[in-house]
Amino acid sequence: MNATPLLSGRGLTKDYPMGAERVHALRGVDVDVYPGDFLALRGPSGSGKTTLINLLGLLDVPDHGTLRLAGRDTATLSENERADTRRDRFGFVFQSFNLIPVLTAAENVAYPMLLKPQTPHDLQARAGELLAAVGLAGKEHVRPDLLSGGQRQRVAIARALANHPVIIFADEPTASLDSRTADTILDLMQQLNKERGVAFVLSTHDPRVVERAARVIALHDGAIEPGAT
Ligand code: ADP
Ligand code: MG
Repeated sequence: MNATPLLSGRGLTKDYPMGAERVHALRGVDVDVYPGDFLALRGPSGSGKTTLINLLGLLDVPDHGTLRLAGRDTATLSENERADTRRDRFGFVFQSFNLIPVLTAAENVAYPMLLKPQTPHDLQARAGELLAAVGLAGKEHVRPDLLSGGQRQRVAIARALANHPVIIFADEPTASLDSRTADTILDLMQQLNKERGVAFVLSTHDPRVVERAARVIALHDGAIEPGAT
């Protein structure tokens, strides 16, 4: 891809303390995310996928290395600017869906939109549109515990789309789903990627996810394995 990257990480490292030792979760990773990308981060458990997603998604900061967002060094962003970026430009999808159990599907989807002034009518209309876009028209008033795993992940994807993100980060989005449901969720993410141009960064150890990715970065012990992009 020859476009300017949305995100560009160079030499990203991250250690975590573990007792008196330090775990080298990332050991100097270079990664670019382009507009409209569909990038898979592959690797066994413990290889650093979640750590990398957290850095790229501005949920955490690297110990060393630089991360640029549309050319700007993210180290210059204040905590508020980082939070605004996450809210306005990114969407997040997790393995365990992370829905709020006491809210309906539509309320879960509308939740990230509450921080911006909008009428209840507009909020409801947009939540309804997004639920329809993920195949859940008619489920607006249902609470998560009455939805299947696949339906819950669809609600989470609709919520991730709420503020028109440029990138959705999905950390093992199919790991809690059976294989047939996982396929339909991947179909949906690919469709949203094509139709809306939203970039996806997915972490996975599921070969079916890797097969569908436009680009793959393979991590092993916190470093990129050569040859797999
Ligand atoms: P993956 O998502 O590929 O399973 P992670 O990024 O979660 O990998 O973890 C990379 C390494 O960092 C692992 O050795 C893990 O045990 C360690 N690690 C991750 N998060 C923490 C944490 N909060 N505290 C201590 N160690 C951590
Ligand atoms: Mg992980």
